[in-house]
Amino acid sequence: MTAMSDPIESLTKTARQLLEIEQLLGSQFTPAAVNSLPEVQLPRRAVSGLANMPPSDKAAALDDMNNNEVKVCTRCRLAKTRTQTVFGEGDPNAALVFVGEGPGQNEDETGRPFCGRAGDLLTSMIGAMGLTRDDVFICNVVKCRPPQNRNPMSDEVEACWPYLMRQLQIISPKAIVTMGNPATQKLLQTKTGITRLRGNWQALPEFADSLGGIPVMPTFHPAYLLRYYTPQVRREVWSDLQQVMTVLGLKLPKDK
Ligand code: SF4
Repeated sequence: MTAMSDPIESLTKTARQLLEIEQLLGSQFTPAAVNSLPEVQLPRRAVSGLANMPPSDKAAALDDMNNNEVKVCTRCRLAKTRTQTVFGEGDPNAALVFVGEGPGQNEDETGRPFCGRAGDLLTSMIGAMGLTRDDVFICNVVKCRPPQNRNPMSDEVEACWPYLMRQLQIISPKAIVTMGNPATQKLLQTKTGITRLRGNWQALPEFADSLGGIPVMPTFHPAYLLRYYTPQVRREVWSDLQQVMTVLGLKLPKDK
């Protein structure tokens, strides 16, 4: 985490974050103390050799995949239109991974996942859980921006799929939050829509070595939340995140 040298800058940043969280969650919220992601007991599942790596090796394995495979990847047509790839970022040993569908314009320009307004909202959502972006891992199903921010096509998703699988195998999270329809439907291998799935725990199917059974919480994409910023949608997203906090053993904020 970045050390904040200027205490006034630090206080201003904290105040801004709290305001953003209040905006996100309405008035029924008192910010929690900062949470750390503890070791939690979840149903046991088989663990691959990748998941057994020490954290420093996980970071190296992710860097290696990014630098030597993803950054130079031309497996699908999105390679022709991207400015740069967006691998994902965060803790290589994170207990919680957020997965969206694909980079947008800001992400394509910066090379970082979830920048811009939707990214700021996701940062606030993570902050509301008492966590920071450094505590979790954030990535997308496809690593290159689809033109005009359209949904990724099925052959693009298939081409990029092995990267996401390997990211998840290396990180071996305790839980995954899928954001929006494309990420949810691909990861859960279902055609059911996000409106029906959100708020209900699912399990990752047994489609990849060691990954089956990881609890998945589908929720709305932050871009959807920005478009439909209603008290009900905000309540639903916050309810989904609180369920994730419960499973991870995180302290819930007190309701006013
Ligand atoms: S979207 Fe994925 S598969 Fe397609 S070019 Fe980018 S990194 Fe390669």
